[in-house]
Amino acid sequence: MPQDITPQPHAGITQLHTYVPGKPIEDLKRELGLEHIIKLASNENPLGTSPAAQAALSRFDGALYRYPDGAGYDIKQRLAAEHGVDPTQITLGNGSDDVLELTARVFLGPGRNAVISQHAFAVYPIVTQAVNGEVREVAALDAAAEMPYGHDLAAMREAIDENTGVVFMASPNNPTGTWLSNAALTAFLESVPPHVVVVLDQAYIEYQTIEAAPPVAAWLARFPNLIVTRTFSKIYGMAALRFGYGLASSTITDYLNRVRAPFNVNTLAMHCALAALDDTDFITHSVTSNTAERDALARELAARGLPCLPSQANFLTFDTGGDARETYEAMLRAGVIVRPLAGYGLAQHLRVTVGSAEDNAVFLAALDRVLDR
Ligand SMILES: *Cc1c(COP(=O)(O)O)cnc(C)c1O
Repeated sequence: MPQDITPQPHAGITQLHTYVPGKPIEDLKRELGLEHIIKLASNENPLGTSPAAQAALSRFDGALYRYPDGAGYDIKQRLAAEHGVDPTQITLGNGSDDVLELTARVFLGPGRNAVISQHAFAVYPIVTQAVNGEVREVAALDAAAEMPYGHDLAAMREAIDENTGVVFMASPNNPTGTWLSNAALTAFLESVPPHVVVVLDQAYIEYQTIEAAPPVAAWLARFPNLIVTRTFSKIYGMAALRFGYGLASSTITDYLNRVRAPFNVNTLAMHCALAALDDTDFITHSVTSNTAERDALARELAARGLPCLPSQANFLTFDTGGDARETYEAMLRAGVIVRPLAGYGLAQHLRVTVGSAEDNAVFLAALDRVLDR
């Protein structure tokens, strides 16, 4: 055997880059020796974890030496009642990213493509290329559009061909915050050929105030090729526990469960998610607070000549007017972690999570110093 031959990954892997998450607070502490740091980089809930989930965690006295319930009986019953679907329509995930990955493993692979908008969530191309599928990136709407940088549904429909396995889309979308109207989404779903799975990622749907999304059950009854994903990482404040799920037809759900790791969701995550689902006060309060703070923050940024993209999520993406890298790094030195978006094709923009009123004030003060305003 020649000595210089090392194991080579398949072609999809060679084109992949490792996902770069929002910088952890501990990293910045270590690197700069800073004491007071605020992180507005990963769209976590500034109000923390649902108190009901936190209390359930403290009270937990279950058997940690046993495997979790791989079928997730209790939480599926609860989610089924919540959405008016059958438990056989629910796929549990170790975060909703897990459900995205299961989708790619089932419906993508060599010879198949995924249609994805430009400036969409980074996990979609990762899970596609991980199974050696083709990423078919569709140009987003332009900066002057009514929904700047939003998904161009007509162009996405055009990009679909007989080898398309999945269309991934998020509404509200990360990292732009832009959204799709119910009418536009419905028309799109009607136009998609039935062999194509449409993943509608609703990680931020609870924060949307402009228009109530139709009940998932009604959409699923009409569109047997639809997968809707939800997460407990954002508004429920449970990002560390890793819990999300997918809703789809029983047929699609069966396929997804064939490739799911048997114990992908841990016991504590399911236990806390059950409690969080009853914590409607926390959700209502989180939405009210986010809406008020998001509006206030958008006004403050606009007043500084830093226009934001329209957002229905819990973050704002704004144009720095130049290369955002320097602003990002200067903000780090000021103890404020935001999210640079060059990897998303938005090198001039930064994304900031809507924090508490206090956090947002610290962020704005730091930004003023950094930009010398
Ligand atoms: C945060 C986020 C998710 C959720 O990921 P989890 O794996 O559930 O933590 C999914 N989709 C989008 C668009 C997100 O921003």
